[in-house]
Amino acid sequence: MSNKPLAVITGASHGIGKTLAIKFAEEGHPCLLISRHIEPIPELENKAILYEKVDVTDFHALQSAIQKAEALYGKTECIINNAGFLNIGELRDTPIEKCNYELDVLVKGVLNGVKAVISDMSARKSGTIINISSLGDRKPYPQAICYHASKHAVRCISESLQMAEGKNNVRVLNIAPGLVKTNIHTNMGISFEEYCRNLGNPTFLLPEELADIIMFCWRLPQHICIRDIVVMPTDCTI
Ligand code: NDP
Repeated sequence: MSNKPLAVITGASHGIGKTLAIKFAEEGHPCLLISRHIEPIPELENKAILYEKVDVTDFHALQSAIQKAEALYGKTECIINNAGFLNIGELRDTPIEKCNYELDVLVKGVLNGVKAVISDMSARKSGTIINISSLGDRKPYPQAICYHASKHAVRCISESLQMAEGKNNVRVLNIAPGLVKTNIHTNMGISFEEYCRNLGNPTFLLPEELADIIMFCWRLPQHICIRDIVVMPTDCTI
């Protein structure tokens, strides 16, 4: 068994989450990797990985997956609440069920991840919670109202939690990226090319580039907390 502590990553089947999973596993961390349809990641063969198909909106399923991983690998030292998707469209044309599910995944999914580990981290006086927010956590946007409202809530959860648990030596990081080249467009049923066209063909960051920044924050000593960072392509003007 690895002597490094357990990292839990939600939304680990694609994009930013998968890239982080590979980086944590390569550094020797046992990982619990979660998504609704997760399958073993070929690059992680022979690593200490537990895969669990869980929807982050289901607190009890998420909690059980974390308990199962902790029984194997010890307590969670880092959780990355990353699971999410983006819907772009007019609110008036969006069914209420879709709006509710988006809020459930993006806000309650983060809260569920936090709730599943915070009591232990607080009691142990050690641990890191990394919430993958978005530039949209500080800017409104007319065609993704639920997404931007949710990310505003994520930033508020991060900031409030830091105020509550920093004194217990729990680090809380809010990561606010934009324009990362992932599968985020697939939920809208469009190709990457169409997604780019809709956004005016901007420059994108690679998930590896964002993951390296997150790894830098994570590797700092426990008493240093980079609380909140915005990460965007340099030439982006929004
Ligand atoms: P991807 O679509 O590439 O990956 C999203 C991941 O989340 C997948 O693994 C997906 O797997 C999982 N997921 C979605 N819904 C759920 C759910 N209900 N329960 C569990 N897992 C779920 O997108 P990104 O990597 O780009 O997105 C990751 C995070 O980064 C999101 O929170 C997003 O808002 C944020 N972000 C992304 C930006 C970008 O430009 N790409 C910019 C700003 C923020 P599955 O379908 O199997 O559940």
